[in-house]
Amino acid sequence: MAQHILPQVAIVGRPNVGKSTLFNRLTGRRTALVSDMPGLTRDRRTGTALIAEREVLMVDTAGLEDAPRGTIPDRMRAQSEAAIEDADLILFVMDARAGLTPADELFADIVRRADRPTLLVVNKCEGNKGREGFYESYSLGLGEPFAVSAEHGEGLADLDDAIGAALAEIAPLPDASDEDGDAAGEDEDYAKHGTPERPIRLAIVGRPNAGKSTLVNALLGEERMIVGPEPGLTRDSISSAFKWEGRDGPVSFELFDTAGLRRKSRINETAEKLSASDAIRAVRFAEIVVLLVSAENPLEHQDLTIADHVAGEGRALIVAVNKWDLVTDKQARIAEIRKAIEMRMSNVAGIAVVPISALAERGLEKLLAAAMATYATWNKRVSTPDLNRWLAEAVARHAPPAVSGRRVRIRYITQPTARPPTFVAFTSQPQALSGSYQRYLINSLREAFDLPGVPVRLNLRKGDNPYATKGRK
Ligand code: GDP
Repeated sequence: MAQHILPQVAIVGRPNVGKSTLFNRLTGRRTALVSDMPGLTRDRRTGTALIAEREVLMVDTAGLEDAPRGTIPDRMRAQSEAAIEDADLILFVMDARAGLTPADELFADIVRRADRPTLLVVNKCEGNKGREGFYESYSLGLGEPFAVSAEHGEGLADLDDAIGAALAEIAPLPDASDEDGDAAGEDEDYAKHGTPERPIRLAIVGRPNAGKSTLVNALLGEERMIVGPEPGLTRDSISSAFKWEGRDGPVSFELFDTAGLRRKSRINETAEKLSASDAIRAVRFAEIVVLLVSAENPLEHQDLTIADHVAGEGRALIVAVNKWDLVTDKQARIAEIRKAIEMRMSNVAGIAVVPISALAERGLEKLLAAAMATYATWNKRVSTPDLNRWLAEAVARHAPPAVSGRRVRIRYITQPTARPPTFVAFTSQPQALSGSYQRYLINSLREAFDLPGVPVRLNLRKGDNPYATKGRK
């Protein structure tokens, strides 16, 4: 059962960034009730807000705004941590006009370590002020910032939308057809118990008869341990845990067991349909997805569709070519398969392709080692100075196109998030950078920073106005 009925959204940040003003904006605009809820410390103010047609409990951690500037009392830190602990979603607030301070970094660090869904809110951006601070906020590693002015009510519609979208994903509204009817509570449980040292979530997808069940059994082996219908995962998912002795010590995996799912399924779906919906469920669950194909007929249309879906959703992907025991001319065959994959899955260039035999339990060590390597790449962060050095070279080597006689400028690039590596480049004319030039940049990024086999995202922003793509209201 959920411990709280409404999803909780905590507003976190160092003193004086404008948390209370934002709290008042978000709660006061449409609802009245601002009250002290029992069970919360007096340092935290709470109130309900109606966001994206949904009631949420906003929690303000601004109880100690009077603290002397530049000092972070332990109490302030402790209450932020407590609020974060209870939150479904965190709004991390920074002051654009003050720019990034060590105190921001400290609070951002607490937030990052909590590993909760977070939106980065850069406040005091009214009238296009604080542009430097807005850019600096990218380096906090908390994703793409939202430029707002809580005081003047600017940028809040976009923030509302983003809060709504984030909550829809992490704490879906209870579904009437769901017997348990408690999806939000499950997510919270998962978030609580899954962190911090949680296992790597792995899923195996592929066409019927590729050998998924056989591989699951081989991986789980004797130690098979049904963790059961896990709270917090998709309602009908089943996951199993296993440990693997990696080169740098034991690694815990949590395996999304689609075979188990199938046994549970009450719906009479066709096998083809099941493998597609398995893939969709698996992607929701997994950080890393193994696409299992059969060496007898790898890369059928459906395999590519599944691969596209996995990469499109930004998950780490590797390909395992099963039934390798049946292949006679192994060397020629793997070269052939690798080449075909390289050509047909160009959005994940450099993807790991591992031949295995699930039945004979061959190649499983290599498969898990490849999964770990891809997982590391997927989590990789590149520093902003390195990126901008690379940008200067990449642009010098191959200049962006000119549009009606004016050369398109790319001014700055940074990586707001990993999982998958996502970059934002600021340019004078985002719409003028052709698809082929963007692919050139992505391929060059891949090469320069060693990012093979994972989706790499490049978002373009108009460089001289933080509101430009956010639709200033
Ligand atoms: P799923 O539909 O993907 O779960 O596939 P299964 O695990 O049920 O396997 C389908 C068939 O392929 C079974 O008859 C397995 O015994 C066989 N199979 C699975 N892995 C291998 C393998 O590595 N080598 C060979 N020769 N057969 C395999």
